[in-house]
Amino acid sequence: MGNNIVSKSRGVARTIMLDPDSSDARFESGRDYMDEKLKQLHLNAGRLSGEQKTCGTKMRHPTEEIAKKVANKMNARPLRKYDVEPYPCPFCGMWHLGRTMPIDVLKSFAAEKE
Ligand SMILES: [Zn+2]
Repeated sequence: MGNNIVSKSRGVARTIMLDPDSSDARFESGRDYMDEKLKQLHLNAGRLSGEQKTCGTKMRHPTEEIAKKVANKMNARPLRKYDVEPYPCPFCGMWHLGRTMPIDVLKSFAAEKE
């Protein structure tokens, strides 16, 4: 009782649905970047997944901004199997694109392996 209303969307990694034409302008605002906590979570999960899976032959992007732009283009494809999002790589120090992962999944993944 009392605390029944929990925002389900709060802890979920943001899946950003942007109009492809306006995406660049929006990213310039810099408001959609990952916060430090989420970044650490990604780095942890990446480390636990191993270099092959996290880094391997994946395309490397030097900054989150660039990775976001590429992700945004990919997410605009009507025939995509899933949405992607950038994540920081603990192995090469750059950014890769991976399947969008809710933060809860990321957390439980990192917790499971510890
Ligand atoms: Zn890497």
